[in-house]
Amino acid sequence: MHVYSIPMRAKFRGITQRTGLLFEGPAGWGEFCPFEEYDDHESMPWLACALEAANDGWPAPVRSRIPVNCTVPVVSPSRAHEIVARSGCSTAKVKVAESTLAEDCARLEAVRGALGPGGFVRVDANMMWDVDTAVTSIKAMDKAAGGLQYVEQPCHTLDELAAVRRRVSVPIAADESIRKAEDPLKVAVSGAADIAVIKVAPLGGVRKALEVAEACGLPCVVSSALETSVGMAAGVALAAALPELDYACGLATLSLFEGDVTSDSLVPVDGYLPVLTKAPVPDRVERFANDVITEAWIYRYGRVLSKLSR
Ligand SMILES: [Mg+2]
Repeated sequence: MHVYSIPMRAKFRGITQRTGLLFEGPAGWGEFCPFEEYDDHESMPWLACALEAANDGWPAPVRSRIPVNCTVPVVSPSRAHEIVARSGCSTAKVKVAESTLAEDCARLEAVRGALGPGGFVRVDANMMWDVDTAVTSIKAMDKAAGGLQYVEQPCHTLDELAAVRRRVSVPIAADESIRKAEDPLKVAVSGAADIAVIKVAPLGGVRKALEVAEACGLPCVVSSALETSVGMAAGVALAAALPELDYACGLATLSLFEGDVTSDSLVPVDGYLPVLTKAPVPDRVERFANDVITEAWIYRYGRVLSKLSR
């Protein structure tokens, strides 16, 4: 087992270090990396996902490469331009609602400038708005971005998403509404969203996520949960196995990290990631090893494993 702690290049979803645990099974390497604030119950599907990779492997792919978006954290407009221009991606996802509306709009203008008129700009508000703020913000951002592809999780509840959806023309994507649901297979997202964001770790693995994708009945975007390349390979396997894939996926998040645990890093080339049959071997773990947190992660793994096997 290897425990890692990798610094983030910019603060993202409130974190500056990404931590997790890697382990090997008969089918390959798996990554267990629930965010630090998640309790053991919420961490169970994350371990199920890692165990699937390590013990069972993934279902057969139906495509050999996955289009991906670049991700723009809360950074200056000039830095945002640079991130998008360097990425080679024609779709950009911009984190919003963590700074002022004017700052978000300035960043969106810069992103559009870098993409040109043919690119796609999407935003993620991570449930930060109430309905009225969402409507005002989305309209302003749609203008600043020269057209938004969709807005991800503008508000907290499905009712709020539905209310926003009635008042704006920009399509709505559901993310937290699906993965944080008590039963992701039973969320009635179709009236509240146009697109489903699915993440392999919080949904319990590739097979479970495929079931969720089918049950929700919406076009899907596969996104990462900020894994290293080991866990990212499972997200790529999900995107590769989905019957339909109409949108670029949010699986190019390794660029948010200072480094990776493997020399075969899953970073996009010309906007695409290759599909792998198993996770790359973590051959660069020493650089990000961290003795201070190792014991706590191994205990966490043990506790969640015993909950899962109950
Ligand atoms: Mg999201």
